[in-house]
Amino acid sequence: MLISDGFMYVEFRRTLLDQVDSALEVTAIQALKNIDDEVDVLTFDPREDSPVLTSLLDEAGVSVDLLDQNGVINQRLGDSLTFPLQAQLSPGFKTIINADERWRVYILEILPRDNRPAGWLRVAHSLQSVDTTLRDLLKHHLFEIPLILGMVGLGGLFLANRALKPIGQITEMAERVRISGDLTQRIRYQGVTDELERLANMFDTMLDSLQATFEREKRFTADASHELRTPLTAIKGRLHVTLSQQRTAENYAETLQAIEQEVDRLIRLSSDLLLLSQLEQHHLALNLELIDLSDLLAAIAEQVQPLAELHHLKFSTHIASNLYIQGSPDHLIRLFLNLLDNAIKYAANDGQVTLTALSGDRSIQVMVSDTGIGIPPEHVSHLFERFYRVEKSRSRAIGGTGLGLAIAQEIVHRHHGAIAIQSGLGHGTTVTVTLPSQ
Ligand code: ADP
Repeated sequence: MLISDGFMYVEFRRTLLDQVDSALEVTAIQALKNIDDEVDVLTFDPREDSPVLTSLLDEAGVSVDLLDQNGVINQRLGDSLTFPLQAQLSPGFKTIINADERWRVYILEILPRDNRPAGWLRVAHSLQSVDTTLRDLLKHHLFEIPLILGMVGLGGLFLANRALKPIGQITEMAERVRISGDLTQRIRYQGVTDELERLANMFDTMLDSLQATFEREKRFTADASHELRTPLTAIKGRLHVTLSQQRTAENYAETLQAIEQEVDRLIRLSSDLLLLSQLEQHHLALNLELIDLSDLLAAIAEQVQPLAELHHLKFSTHIASNLYIQGSPDHLIRLFLNLLDNAIKYAANDGQVTLTALSGDRSIQVMVSDTGIGIPPEHVSHLFERFYRVEKSRSRAIGGTGLGLAIAQEIVHRHHGAIAIQSGLGHGTTVTVTLPSQ
């Protein structure tokens, strides 16, 4: 504002002075024409209507002096009372100060002609009205600047407060969550659609996922404790019964065998938990290498064949050759063993288990199908949750920990792939793993 006002002021002053200068110049030219050429003293032509001219000049606040070569005034027209009689003579425009009043002066040199001697023509105009206008303008601006600054300041304060209010709400809410630990609180921002709405929504979404993770962890801890307690309770009960009276050596051996089974179960459970927690640490990279998946699957199938035969199942494989992927062999073996183990466990007697591997568009699909009991549709979306089982007692009885599919999913994700289950109750199950090919 200061710069633009300053610029405007200077421009305005220049325009006013230009106007005064052109008026002086026109008057001087007019006065020059009125000089009497027929006498040998510099004087205005008396035939011209000088009283009228004088009153016009007075009205315009202009004074016209006719001076001889030495600067002595021969004749004066117009506002003769206020302008000084003596002033320095040099042609052109100049501003002089006389008794605290500024005057704009235009001096023209009169050259000798015929009878007319040389001399000076001086036209002057008081700058009082110009100065008053400029002073008023300056006062106006000086008054206006603090007023506008104040208004801008107050407006800015109001807008900043309004804009920052939602941030205050977000901060308060975050503080409440921190103090109470209550992850159910949400901002539910209702203001205009802007960056703050995005921030508030992002905050709510973050709390949603934090709450989901927190609840999942709580459920997991409860499930894990329960899973660990079951075999320990069984061991304790068995020991208690056995030790309650004297037993034969066979009884003791039987008890020890039963305890060994439960301990095996505990070992399986703890190693599954350990593997799962390692896989979930995404910052720890897996050792990936180029693998011929066809060879790997063929080796796994060979390993699984006796187990399928034991369950009286028909096991067939359709594995395309040269299926190369970037992967961790140990984890991939674990993945497909888990899936085949499930297929064999849940396939009906005399059923069929099939392992198929195909090459797709930049991906490889591996399908493990069985003709078993299938899975009710309402359970399918939960199968990858840790410790989720369709029939808890049945799964436990056949040695399942409920972590097999959670581990499988984690391994697939660590290989940047996808896993999906299609199943129909009584129509068997197909698990499809899609991995990026090399
Ligand atoms: P588990 O160790 O109990 O097998 P999983 O995570 O591997 O745990 O599987 C979770 C549950 O999914 C199982 O308890 C079972 O109820 C169901 N399930 C998995 N695979 C099959 C399948 N091929 N056929 C039927 N049900 C299955």
